[in-house]
Parts: sequence; C-alpha cells; structure tokens
Amino acid sequence: MRLVTVGDRLALLHNGRAVDVAAASEGRFESDPMTVFERWAEFTAWVSAYVPAPDAGEPVEVHRLGPPVPRPRQVFAVALNYPPHAAEAGYRPPDDPLVFTKFPTCVTGPDAVVELPGEKVDWEVELVAVIGTAGHRIPQEEAWAHVAGLTVGQDLSERAVQMLGTPPQFSLGKSFPGFGPTGPALVTTDELADPDDLEISCSVSGTVVQRSRTKEMIFSVPVLVARISAVCPLLPGDLIFTGTPAGVGNRMNPPRYLTPDDELVSRIEGIGEIRTRFSTTGGVRP
Ligand code: ZN
Repeated sequence: MRLVTVGDRLALLHNGRAVDVAAASEGRFESDPMTVFERWAEFTAWVSAYVPAPDAGEPVEVHRLGPPVPRPRQVFAVALNYPPHAAEAGYRPPDDPLVFTKFPTCVTGPDAVVELPGEKVDWEVELVAVIGTAGHRIPQEEAWAHVAGLTVGQDLSERAVQMLGTPPQFSLGKSFPGFGPTGPALVTTDELADPDDLEISCSVSGTVVQRSRTKEMIFSVPVLVARISAVCPLLPGDLIFTGTPAGVGNRMNPPRYLTPDDELVSRIEGIGEIRTRFSTTGGVRP
C-alpha cells in the first residue's frame, strides 16, 4: 500500500492515481490521515479487501502532495547512525543510539519551498519509519509489526544553531519551519523487496552528494524501535528519522551549504523521491 496526502486528505495510490480514502470507504474512514493511524489494523484490513475500479481516483499532482503524516505527536531522530558519517563528523560509531527530536512543527511535504533562516543550512537524507500500532517496551523481534510504513525524509540542519553552546544542542537547529520534508508516500513494507536494505541518496542541484544503503545503519529500524520505546511509548503516526549517510555539506572542503538557487532531491529505492527548494524570504509550505 502507498498512502499520500493530497491537499489535506488521505489517498491511496492505485495504478498511479490517488483514490480518496474517505470517499472510497463511504465515510468509514475520515480524510484526516492522523485519524487513520489511530485505527491502523482496521484500516489495513479494509484496504486489503477494497477493490477499486481500474480507473478509480485522480491523477497525482505532485505540487498538491503534503506530508504523509502531517501532525505527528513525536518526531525522533538519530545522529551518527552510519559509520562513514560518524567518521566524517569526527566521532567513533556510538555504542547506543544518539536520539534527539525534530519538533513536529518542522514537518512539511515532498515538494516544499523552505525558508533559509541562516547561511549554514545543510542536507541529511534519511529513511523515516512511521509508527502504526502504539507500543511501549517493544521487543526488537516485534518492531516491524508496529511500523505502518516507510517514507523519505530530509533532516535539514542549520549548523550554526545546531553547534551553538557547550555542549551543543541538536534539536532547535533542526526544527525551523520546513526542516522536516517527508514523502512522497508512506509505503508499507510488503511493497519493498527488503525493507532493511534500500538504496538511499540525495543530490544538490544535480550533483549526487550522498549515496548508501540502509543496511549500513549501525542501529536498524527494529533496534531503534526497541531502544526508543524502552523509554518513550510510541504513538500512531510518530516518526523516526533514522540517521544520514556520509556526504553532508559542512564536512566538505570547503563546506557547502544550501542556497535559494539549489534544488535538493532525496531518494530511497522503492519509496520515491522528494524535492526541496529554498528561499530567503518566507517559504511556502504546501
Ligand atoms: Zn540526521
């Protein structure tokens, strides 16, 4: 199953067309995606039994797509989760997941224009896991069953704010409006050959700057679900940004940061790609 948000309404992709969930279910499910995550098992059962007409739905207009999860209650993010990125940042691979938050107001969609709040805004393409079924102290072996699906994310980071202070604090520099682009779709794991091994990459204005595979993560999605939920109960619609591969801009020589002339394209195999553009005056948030 591939779920998208068109405007602010949840839709199911079918033959590349968007089928409105509230209309197709005759009101059984609401158009607000957040209400569907609360009834995830019931919703997936309905989707399994639903047979749309071959021409059901509307053509997908990319500029109308919003974030698949528009209002998550908790957004976890993980630092230094790929060994080459830990090395380029000057650290040895961590023994435990390094978890911070992207405050939820930073979430935006897959075709966003993001205002640059400073001169050191950097890219970090990341696989994002979306929680379907709530859980506390979830065993690693049961973790995938709590994940609704996966999507593409960018952990945009203003490095000056991120590194401000001793010790530095991560969360504010990664939470400006628009700093959490996600999409284009929430893809359930049955659509993917191996959800633990997907090619992940991003390009800045046509130049590939990051490319890896998610199997290179130090802490896999099931390990992160287990370790985070050992402390925080996970709620339907929560996001986990799972860390970025090597190739961020502030570790280049000289450092390279995003400008209003750049287009950032972030891709994950089997899920799709998101495009982010930038402005210095007032971003547009679809
Ligand atoms: Zn990150």
